[in-house]
Amino acid sequence: MDQQTHSWIAIRAIALLEQNNDMPALVSLLKPHARKASVGAWIPDDIYVKNGGCRTDCHVLKMTVYSGGQKERFVTLKADLMKQAGPSRRMAGFLQEDATLGADWWAIPFKGDASPGQHLPNRVMALATMLKDLLLMGDEQVYDLIPHKNDYMESIDAEARTREEAAALYFFMLSHFAADSCMPCHCDARKLSSYSGGGVHHKLEKHWSGSVGNGFERATLLKTAATDDQIFQQARDVDAKFGLQFEAGPLPDLGKDHDEWLEDMFICRASFAMASVIAPYKDYPYDNTGPIAKYDALLGNGQAALLQKVDQAVLHDAVWNTAIYWKHIWNTIGD
Ligand SMILES: [Zn+2]
Repeated sequence: MDQQTHSWIAIRAIALLEQNNDMPALVSLLKPHARKASVGAWIPDDIYVKNGGCRTDCHVLKMTVYSGGQKERFVTLKADLMKQAGPSRRMAGFLQEDATLGADWWAIPFKGDASPGQHLPNRVMALATMLKDLLLMGDEQVYDLIPHKNDYMESIDAEARTREEAAALYFFMLSHFAADSCMPCHCDARKLSSYSGGGVHHKLEKHWSGSVGNGFERATLLKTAATDDQIFQQARDVDAKFGLQFEAGPLPDLGKDHDEWLEDMFICRASFAMASVIAPYKDYPYDNTGPIAKYDALLGNGQAALLQKVDQAVLHDAVWNTAIYWKHIWNTIGD
C-alpha cells in the first residue's frame, strides 16, 4: 500500500478506538503523536529500512500449492478459517459469501513461500513482543498510562526509558504489517500479484491511495495547521469513499488460543483466498502457466461490485486488525 494509505489506516485505527471509547489510556498515548508517528506507518517500505532488518520478504507471505509430505498441516478448510478469522472480519464475510472457491479448492494444501523468519506474521509478532518490553520500560509519562506496574523501572537510566514518541512510532510500524497482511497480492505467489509490471497489485494500491487523498501524505501531516481532532475527523470522512462501516463497542481480542503470529497467519490465508477469488485460479493457475492478469480485466469496468467488496474487506480489516493488535499488546503488557 502507498504512504498515505498506510498513514490513514493507523490514524483511523486510533480514531476507531477513540469513537468506541475503547482503551482510553492507549488513545491518549497515541493521539497527540499521530502526525509525527505517521512516518512509522510507511517507513518499513523505505529502501533505507528495507536494507536493514525489514526486507521485502517481511512484507509478504506469498502462498502457493504445497506438495511436501505434511499436506494435512497446510490445509485450512473454509469452516475453520471462518471460525479462526472470526465474524467481525469483513474478509471472512467476503469469503463466506463467495461461491467461486468450492470444497475442492479449500482442500488444497497451501503454504507460504518465505525465507526463514521473514514473513508478515513473524514481523507482527516481533514488533508486538518488543513493544510490550519497551512499554514496561517507559518513561514517567508512559509508565503512568500502562496498565501494568512494576518497580524494576527504577533501575533503568531515565535517558534509556521509552518515550511516548518512540512508543507511538513502533505502534505505527506494527500497523504497516497488519495492513500488508490484508492486501491479497501480498499473500499470493502467482506472478500476477507482483508489484512490478503495472498489474493488479500496483493499480489497486493506487486506487486506494487516490481515494484516501493528499491529506494523509507525509508532508501534509507534518506541516498541517489542523488540530488532532480535525485530522481524526478527516480520517473518519474517508470511510464514506469506500462505504466502510465499523461496528460500535469494544473491539474483540485475538482469536481463542491465538498469539499475534497465529492470528496473522489466518489473516494471510484469508487474504490469499481473496486473491484466488479476484483472479480465479482456474483461469490463472498457481503454476503461472496462464496469462498475466491485468487490473482492468479483474477489477476494471464491469467489476465495480467486486472492487467495492474488495475495498471494504481489505480496508476495514486493515484498520480493524491494527486496532485489535494494539489493544491486545496493551492488555498483555507484563503477562
Ligand atoms: Zn510494506
